[in-house]
Order: sequence, then C-alpha cells, then structure tokens
Amino acid sequence: MDHLMNTRTKVLEKGIEILATNLTVGTWGNISCRVPGEDCIAITPSGMNYNLLEPEDIVILDLDGYIITGTRKPSIEVPLHLAIYKAREDVQAIIHTHSPYATTMATARKDIPGVVEDLVQIVGGNVRVNKYALPGTEQLGINTVKALEGRNAVLLANHGMLGVGRDLEEALKVCQVVEKSAQITLLAQLMGGVVELSQDDICGMRNFYLDTYGQRY
Ligand code: 13P
Ligand code: ZN
Repeated sequence: MDHLMNTRTKVLEKGIEILATNLTVGTWGNISCRVPGEDCIAITPSGMNYNLLEPEDIVILDLDGYIITGTRKPSIEVPLHLAIYKAREDVQAIIHTHSPYATTMATARKDIPGVVEDLVQIVGGNVRVNKYALPGTEQLGINTVKALEGRNAVLLANHGMLGVGRDLEEALKVCQVVEKSAQITLLAQLMGGVVELSQDDICGMRNFYLDTYGQRY
C-alpha cells in the first residue's frame, strides 16, 4: 500500500508545482503516473484545486479506466492519458498543462520547431500540433498519440500542451522546456525568424541526452 501512497503523493506534488510555476491556472491541466510494478495509473481528480488536494484524492485506475482505489471523479482526460500509456511503453508519467506560450503556439496551430538545444535533447525534435478534438474525448487521445510519435511532447490544438517522461520529474522538465521554447520561438519571430538545426545535429543531441548527459553511476 505504501508504494500506492508514494505514487499518489508524487502526482500531487507535481500538481502543486505546475500551479505555483504558472504552467497552468485554476484547476486545469492534469497529471498521471504508472504505479510501479502494477498495471494501473495514478491520476489527478477532475476540477479540484491542486493546493487543497490530499494524496487520497488522487485516483488509481486500471488501464481500462476502471477505478481501483479512490472516491473522487478522475480527470476528464483519462482517455487521453490511457491512449498514451497503451501506445507508448516508454512513458511512465504524463503532465498536461495550459501554459501560456505553448498554448499560444497551439492556438495558432504552429509546431514549435526543433531549434533550441535543450528542447531537441529532451523532446527528440520539433513539437507538433495535434489535429483538433474536444477535451475529454477518445478522439483527442487518438489524435494526440499520432502527433506524439517519436517525441516527448505535443501541442494540443486550441487547448494546451502535454509532456511525457520516464518519471514525473522528466515529464515536468519536458513541460518547462517546451514552454520556454515556445516563448523563444515567438520572440525569434520578431527578430526575423529562427534558424533550423540539421537533422543530424538533432539526432546527435538526443542520443547525447539519453546516453551521456548528466551524472552516470
Ligand atoms: P480535469 O480537471 O478534469 O483534469 O480537466 C482539466 C483539463 O485541462 C481538461 O483538458
Ligand atoms: Zn486541458
């Protein structure tokens, strides 16, 4: 039971963090994580203030969306999160935010080009905009999985962004780097536009991030 509580607590902490760092406002956005060693996920409840949540408010679901533990109604984006976990074995955690610069790009329906080094390292290339679908729908899951192919982030058309990772820390870092890259892209447009990196350099930096970057023990 301890590991369930541990996962619920980590999900809740990330909720507080996305609110405190303006990656979302109000009760929007949602966060989930696979429960280690089990075929289930922990996900934030729908429409609740992250600052007022207790670990018990985080809902545990199986991969078909049935509630295993918890009394709250889970996020409306359960179909979106489950579609990603089913399609992507490598994804352990998902954070969906409504951050302003990423949402600006998503609303203009412009991809964030792979032009910033930390972005291509952690995301794997450009950040695509998905085909529009209403929030909470199965179609949003289908469209998002497609646009997320080979990447760790996606822009949700007229809605926000979503980052995935090998753990919650990495998923949050993805959201932060995407938000910063959206801001940089918009500013660079004012200065005449961005300069593209070559596909070779993007691949090289992605592999460097995966194999070499940081402390290795
Ligand atoms: P929930 O509060 O149900 O997670 O919905 C917020 C949201 O961002 C929907 O896309
Ligand atoms: Zn949303």
